[in-house]
Amino acid sequence: MKKIAILGSTGSIGTQTLQVAEENGDLQVTALAAGGNVQRMEEQIRKFRPKLACMGDEKKAKELRLCTSDLDVKITAGMEGLLEVATEPESEILVTAIVGMMGIRPAIAAMEAGKDIALANKETLVTAGHLILPLAREKGVKILPVDSEHSAIFQCLNGEDKRAVRKLLLTASGGPFRGWKREQLARVKVEDALKHPNWSMGKKITIDSSTMVNKGLEVMEARWLFGVEMDQIQVVVQPQSVIHSMVEFEDGAVMAQLGTPDMRLPIQYALYYPERRFLSGERLDFAKLGNISFEAPDFSVFPGLSLAYEAGRQGGDLPVVYNAANEYAVAKFLKGEISYLSIVEMIERAMEHHKEKGILSHPDVEEILETEKATYEFLESNF
Ligand code: NDP
Repeated sequence: MKKIAILGSTGSIGTQTLQVAEENGDLQVTALAAGGNVQRMEEQIRKFRPKLACMGDEKKAKELRLCTSDLDVKITAGMEGLLEVATEPESEILVTAIVGMMGIRPAIAAMEAGKDIALANKETLVTAGHLILPLAREKGVKILPVDSEHSAIFQCLNGEDKRAVRKLLLTASGGPFRGWKREQLARVKVEDALKHPNWSMGKKITIDSSTMVNKGLEVMEARWLFGVEMDQIQVVVQPQSVIHSMVEFEDGAVMAQLGTPDMRLPIQYALYYPERRFLSGERLDFAKLGNISFEAPDFSVFPGLSLAYEAGRQGGDLPVVYNAANEYAVAKFLKGEISYLSIVEMIERAMEHHKEKGILSHPDVEEILETEKATYEFLESNF
């Protein structure tokens, strides 16, 4: 039995990972971590019987201890707890499905302990890719992408010579506001932005998809994961979300991975790689589908995408600023405290401010977290 630990088990990716474990029946869950959803964590502990569980803070951990006192499970809290889950001695693979830069330290700890990483938390590579990839090579551990686009590219590259890659074509649905004018976006409300046309995901990533900041983060993630330059990554809008991404090779051949929009596929592929297993669910029916269409992204309506290219090209800790400013702004937008267009304006202002101060070229983890904090402080005192 393969043994897995999951960070963010109560979230969208976390629960689908547990569905995959349940459907296959041969994955043993050794440790789980979540933030505040005690009830769902209790259900998961009763069903999957991990030895270790962690909640976001001590108050939630206490609540969980009370309702699981009849079970043999150790319950911890906070970053110490996350690190313990990440390095749980028996697990072979860590699924990192928490949101935010809080995922960096547990991912590093797990790799240092020799565990493979099934990576959903894109912030880890966006902000610390320069540390993570060399560490994975040094420790001989795999970084297996869970993000559907990166999984698609990973599948297209299977058995190929990576030196023959010319371009990565990262597909995007275009989100709920595809084809809109910038003036129309000024009136967008939280509930409008939470309506993704094809995928069902956590709130933060759904807002990021609507601004195309999610695609920007994915471009930066892909650059590290596949060792290419930013300018070798092209975003292609493919509204039906049937092609999950493509790779163009030196000879002009283009390989694509297609499928219905179902995150269980990339999750399962990461957990069992290189084995391909049966997966229940809908199959693509090309006769029903009719057509697959393509468009170029509109950078003038979605400047969050151009800013991501700039952050990725300049590198250092500028992607940290991009990511932190977006996290801060999206949280404010979700609380109804700022307008929709302010999200990307805040990213731009924070990046300008940081460039004036000076970009740090090769930040370590402490410096990354300091830049994150400084970005929050800048935005707090200027908006
Ligand atoms: P969700 O918001 O659905 O889930 C986030 C998870 O993180 C929850 O389990 C939450 O716990 C947990 N969490 C929050 N705060 C803490 C904390 N302080 N300590 C421990 N755990 C915490 O997010 P998603 O599943 O949508 O996304 C997870 C990551 O995967 C993100 O980086 C996202 O970009 C990426 N991703 C997601 C995809 C998707 O389809 N959803 C696709 C590709 C990538 P609780 O709910 O109990 O508070």
